[in-house]
Amino acid sequence: MKGFALACLMAAGLSACAAPPKAHDWHDLVNVGDAGMRARAYHDSGDYDRDVAAADAQAQGWIAARAKTASKPAIVLDIDETSLSNWPAMAADDFGYFPGGTCDVLPKGPCGAVAWEMSARAAAIAPTLALVKAAQAQGVAVFFVTGRHESERAATARNLAQAGYANWSGLSLKPDAMHVMTASAYKAPVRADIEAQGYTIIANIGDQPSDLAGGHAERAFLLPNPFYRVP
Ligand SMILES: [Mg+2]
Repeated sequence: MKGFALACLMAAGLSACAAPPKAHDWHDLVNVGDAGMRARAYHDSGDYDRDVAAADAQAQGWIAARAKTASKPAIVLDIDETSLSNWPAMAADDFGYFPGGTCDVLPKGPCGAVAWEMSARAAAIAPTLALVKAAQAQGVAVFFVTGRHESERAATARNLAQAGYANWSGLSLKPDAMHVMTASAYKAPVRADIEAQGYTIIANIGDQPSDLAGGHAERAFLLPNPFYRVP
C-alpha cells in the first residue's frame, strides 16, 4: 500500500491516484445466510441421507471384496458426521461453531459443541453403522480416529456404544495439549501407528478431506458434509 501510494505520487500527483485494486468483488462472494438455507434444505429433503448412503455403499462394497484377501484387515473411521450425527446441535446453532456454553435448550439452541458432545446424545449415521457391522462380520478390525479431545474419551465411547457401535479395536482422540494446523497432521500418523501393529487399512472413511489426506489407507471414502469445514 505504501509503495503504491509513493509510485502514484511520483507518477501523476495525488489527485490522479486511483484506489488500489480490490481483492474481492462482493457480487462473487457466497452469502452465508443463503448457504445456510441451502444446506438445511439439502438435509431436510433427504438428499443428504441418500448421498451418505451412496458413499457408504461404495465403501462397503470395497471392504467386502478386499477383506477376503487382506492380511489383518482394518478400517478407520472419523466420528463426527461420519459415524455419529450432530445435526440437532448444528441446526440449533445455524451452522455456527461455539465450543463453550451449555446445550440444554434444544431444539431452539444455542448449543455449545463440547457440552453437546459430553452429553453423548448423537445418533448413529445409519449406513455407516451398517457398514461397520458388515465389516466386523467379515473379521475386519474397526478403528475410530477423531479430532475430539482426549478429555472427551468417556463420553465419546459411551455415545458410540449407545448408538450401536460395539467391539471396536481402537478409539484415538487428539491429546488435549496438541495443537495442529490440520486434522491430517494428527490423523495420518495415527493410521501409520495402526499399520505398525500389522493391520492393513483397507478403507479410511471421513466427511472432511483432512480426514483422508496423508495416505496410510488403501482407499479413502469421503461422505458429504456441506455444513462445516475442518481444515
Ligand atoms: Mg467428521
